[in-house]
Amino acid sequence: MAENTKGVLIVLSGPSGVGKGTVCKELLARNPQVKLSVSATTRAPRPGEVEGISYFFKTKEEFKRMIDAGEFLEYMDVFGMNYYGTPRAYVEEQLALGNDILLEIDVKGAMNVKRIAPEAVLVFIAPPSMETLKARLVGRGTETEEAIARRTAEAAAEMQLLPKYDYMVVNDVLTDAVNEVETILAAERLRVDRCKDLAKFCKEA
Ligand code: ADP
Ligand code: 5GP
Repeated sequence: MAENTKGVLIVLSGPSGVGKGTVCKELLARNPQVKLSVSATTRAPRPGEVEGISYFFKTKEEFKRMIDAGEFLEYMDVFGMNYYGTPRAYVEEQLALGNDILLEIDVKGAMNVKRIAPEAVLVFIAPPSMETLKARLVGRGTETEEAIARRTAEAAAEMQLLPKYDYMVVNDVLTDAVNEVETILAAERLRVDRCKDLAKFCKEA
């Protein structure tokens, strides 16, 4: 990345099961200057999830204390069941260092981020079809039947927020989807309004 460029705050969201986590993992593996914001949640860890890497797992009381202390950039009661939130400190620290920061959050959280940080780049990860979405959610095998029903019902409503996003990437073939997110990042880094020392170029012209 050019030294004189500010980091990009990029938000990936989209319905549960679309493949956000999978796209993020691949993107992070390929791009060391992209840092993942680890969210806090009150939901129980899934098998294989690691504290501080997958999420910061909190009790409802701990989460509420963090809300009161103003520690979240945004937070949300997702699916009316559990709280999820983006700790503010790490995001601000990484952007100041010139790194890109990746948020993988729900669509309502994405809308809140755009309101708080209008320069944030919102990318909607869309499924090739609603049938594929349900099949992925079932195939992941991490949710109860009831949770799958709730998440697929929510997905239809979440798709309605697509027009409010800056970009859409259809996650059909994984490598294509990751390439497209990289293209978005590359273009965003070249934006004139991200250049830290425009004055230098203007003087030279
Ligand atoms: P999300 O984070 O959006 O809830 P996940 O990343 O957990 O979704 O993906 C849901 C399931 O779909 C996982 O089992 C994952 O392996 C699978 N998956 C993700 N992307 C693709 C893809 N492009 N093609 C096929 N399966 C995929
Ligand atoms: P899961 O329980 O499958 O890990 O996540 C459920 C939903 O919560 C997903 O849509 C995920 O993107 C979202 N989510 C994860 N972290 C955050 C966060 O910090 N804020 C918000 N608003 N949503 C989040």
